[in-house]
Amino acid sequence: MFINGEWVESSNEEVLDVKNPSTGTTMAKVQSASNEDVHRAIDAARNSFDSGIWSRLPPGERSNILLRVAELLEKNQEEFIKIETENSGKSIKQVSGYDIPYTIDNIRFIAGACRTLEGKAMAEYVSDGTSAIRREPIGAIGIITPWNYPLMMVIWRAFPAIAMGNSVVVKPASYTPLTTLKLAKILQDAGVPDGVFNVITGPGSSVGEEMAKSDKLEMIAFTGSTEVGKRLSVLGASNLKKVSLELGGKAPFIVFKDANIDAAVESAIVGGLVNNGQDCANSTRYYIQEEVFDKFVARLRERIQKLNIGDPQNPEIDMGPLISEAQRKRVEGYIEKGINEGGKLLSGGNRPLIKNHENGYYLNPALIYTENDNSAIVKEEIFGPVFTILKFINYDDVIRRSNDVTYGLGSSVWTSDITTAMRATRDLRFGTVWINEHVVVPSEMPWAGYKESGHGASLSPYSLEEFTYIKHVYFDLTGKVRKDWYGQIFKG
Ligand code: NAD
Repeated sequence: MFINGEWVESSNEEVLDVKNPSTGTTMAKVQSASNEDVHRAIDAARNSFDSGIWSRLPPGERSNILLRVAELLEKNQEEFIKIETENSGKSIKQVSGYDIPYTIDNIRFIAGACRTLEGKAMAEYVSDGTSAIRREPIGAIGIITPWNYPLMMVIWRAFPAIAMGNSVVVKPASYTPLTTLKLAKILQDAGVPDGVFNVITGPGSSVGEEMAKSDKLEMIAFTGSTEVGKRLSVLGASNLKKVSLELGGKAPFIVFKDANIDAAVESAIVGGLVNNGQDCANSTRYYIQEEVFDKFVARLRERIQKLNIGDPQNPEIDMGPLISEAQRKRVEGYIEKGINEGGKLLSGGNRPLIKNHENGYYLNPALIYTENDNSAIVKEEIFGPVFTILKFINYDDVIRRSNDVTYGLGSSVWTSDITTAMRATRDLRFGTVWINEHVVVPSEMPWAGYKESGHGASLSPYSLEEFTYIKHVYFDLTGKVRKDWYGQIFKG
């Protein structure tokens, strides 16, 4: 683990196996932090923050150091690509073409944006005084990240935090801690002072919970499941810490009869299967207008069957395994439930046999048609390669059904009619509405949830504000012993 600028072992000498999901074999071992280690890391973050060594640097200086991180990451990207691919099971095509270059762009954006914070102008909002706004870092912050985008999610949460002058303790997911540990070295090499960026590894149920209970952390930024997000909100109440939550999704993908069906099918594949179907933005509920239903489903099915599933290190591969055996069983459980609740399996859902990867956690994408709007496959986040296909009649019908879930993260609408598109962007209760596209999130735009998908925002300038307190500063302009308005309260 990386605490206060040093590599340390757990005080209880416990270690965890880290697996390669495409083979099921152990690829590394990492430390499992004890409570004592958790508090060491929190103290390191707290002390570095209180010392002002980082928090008092002008934004431009912090920005330059973070830009150096981007540069070093770019220089070392081959190593990051290899480890991320091996540890997460996503295709090397995705990791090298999208995850790592996009993550580097995220860092550059955050580094630049921390120099351009905006606020209300300093002015006399009452006649006898001048008001100003300060945006200040919160202090020591716990960052807890998921396994689906191991490196990217640390950047999305820890980088706006440190860009604004906070110090952090990062706990990556136990399945995928490796690139986060490598990142710590890069931050140190770039010049981030000791204690500002600490990484501890271990189970969420012990390490994560101990962080959430700590009174020395003033905030937890969490990206993960809604269930754990709710638990952290409860635990964080001990000192009323701010809990920023980026949680699950159940994105609708709505295809109107006037849409370009070829384009919608291509995007449906990407939206449904990016990250092996383990993306919070994944399109999961495909609402297809009845007039184009047969055409869309036939093309989608044909297209899915052409996908190349196999060893993620092979650049020809489109899709690798799921993250773990537990995740595969969970997804299979949903497929079974979907069928038991009236769904019809149109294709896939079985385990492919991949030569030399027989113990990998592979699953063929499943296509299920259902008319049961209350089925678990329509309501709950599956987090796997399952396309749930539904039919709709008209605009009102599909918008109502799309909104009728507890989640509200991503959504997309396919149409060539501008009025339909504009109405849908107003009526859909999701943090993102894509028109004739799915999944794209530029670094400049917020990634934010409605309802049980969480609150706050990643990326964009909003993600930087998330990691600040707002302070009003007031300057009296009169110099009087008794200001005129005091008489409204007490007689002089
Ligand atoms: P998870 O909630 O199981 O785990 C996330 C992190 O929390 C891990 O580091 C884990 O160790 C830790 N954790 C687990 N139990 C904990 C506890 N009791 N206390 C404290 N920490 C605990 O999620 P996951 O399975 O790693 O990731 C998948 C989920 O993440 C999906 O729901 C997905 O939609 C969501 N996700 C959301 C976004 C977003 O931006 N909204 C992005 C990526 C993933």
